[in-house]
Amino acid sequence: MHYLSRIEETRHLNAFVEVFADEALKRAAELDSKKKNGLPCGRLFGVVTGIKDVICFKDHKISAGSAILKGFTSLYSATAIERLIAEDAIIIGNLNCDEFAMGSSNENSAYGNVLNALDNSRVPGGSSGGSAVAVQAGLCMLSLGSDTGGSVRQPADFCGVTGFKPGYGRISRYGLIAYASSFDQIGVFGTNIEDIALFTEIMAGPDAYDSTASTNPVPAFSQLLKTTKKFKIAWFPQALDHPSLDPEIASSIRAYFQELENEGHTLKPVDFDYLDYIVPAYYILTTAEASSNLSRYDGVKYGYRTKDHVNNLDDFYRKNRSQGFGKEVKRRIMLGTFVLSTGYYDAYYTRAQQIRRRIQEQTELIFKDFDIILLPTTPAPAFKFGEKSHDAVEMFLADLFTVFANLAGIPAISIPLFRHSNGMPFGIQAMTNQFEELSLLQFSNLSYLR
Ligand code: GLN
Repeated sequence: MHYLSRIEETRHLNAFVEVFADEALKRAAELDSKKKNGLPCGRLFGVVTGIKDVICFKDHKISAGSAILKGFTSLYSATAIERLIAEDAIIIGNLNCDEFAMGSSNENSAYGNVLNALDNSRVPGGSSGGSAVAVQAGLCMLSLGSDTGGSVRQPADFCGVTGFKPGYGRISRYGLIAYASSFDQIGVFGTNIEDIALFTEIMAGPDAYDSTASTNPVPAFSQLLKTTKKFKIAWFPQALDHPSLDPEIASSIRAYFQELENEGHTLKPVDFDYLDYIVPAYYILTTAEASSNLSRYDGVKYGYRTKDHVNNLDDFYRKNRSQGFGKEVKRRIMLGTFVLSTGYYDAYYTRAQQIRRRIQEQTELIFKDFDIILLPTTPAPAFKFGEKSHDAVEMFLADLFTVFANLAGIPAISIPLFRHSNGMPFGIQAMTNQFEELSLLQFSNLSYLR
């Protein structure tokens, strides 16, 4: 009830696409009577959870923030959702996001902008802006987002909450609408590490419906958070000296490094040669994958279908897709189709794959000597609406620090430690090697306790 009235009070934030109010109340009542009758209760008993509009929940609408899927109802639930429900979580609604999770500001949704609750003239970040604001404004306890190139960490940074992206394959992608399949990962927004650890441990693990879901054993993250370990931490001078980095962010992070050293952790600068290549490589590979993934939205079996007269099948596809998709999605489909086309494939796609491989190799080398890599989450705190939307490249470049973890496939988290003199929060981003979520969560928990 509390959350439903909070949602009503904050309608102007536009965080939710749909609120499952009656159903959530009914489920809460069922859970209550289960408890009264002494029946066993799940580990997420009554935890009110919001989900990004790209994660399927059976018999509920899902549209990926797109007009092309408006009115579509999920035929099944994502594995992640089934596992949360099996532990008695309550799903309260689905959350607004950039269309098909493409964007960094939530200005690309068919449902309109989501507002940052701390300053309504600023963006909440994207693409999981609704998920970040829902936790920021106390509209649910935790929320799910998806992170292909930073869509959990960057909005968490902009909204002053924690956003965690497990390593690629930790959580099944079954029931997650695909953007770029070799990058996509479900992630969690919360306000403390214990909750995020428990959520992750429940959702993670192998899944017969997703062959890329890892069979690597899932530790009981939430029980193992306490540690006295002193971490070996790498940081990249190229990142902290980057011309796009806000000087206040740089100085807060340097001061934080000093604190970590005082606490007995070791910090060392490490040269990372690929910083200027990661954004181009990311946008070549993800748009290529997106152009293929989004070819299924043609209006034949489901989704938006034009009301106009059509002359032939080609015209039918063209009208459905031109009218159904928004500008950013079209831009990426065209870019992806171009980089995959004959004559350009080797120059763009193959080279970007080679860069991805090099990044993965260099990352592996770093983790031979270090436990953690620390980077800023974003070059600057939440910007104003319209500030970057006229310039796609400027918007893309702001993803500089987050896309690295998706190219490498490693776990990454944004922890909300700082506040800018303009009043907006910002975080630090920590990363570990693949399948080292536990030490990432342990480290994050220490940072929370400082
Ligand atoms: N901002 C990035 C993009 O637009 C990240 C998106 C995401 O992680 N879903 O691609």
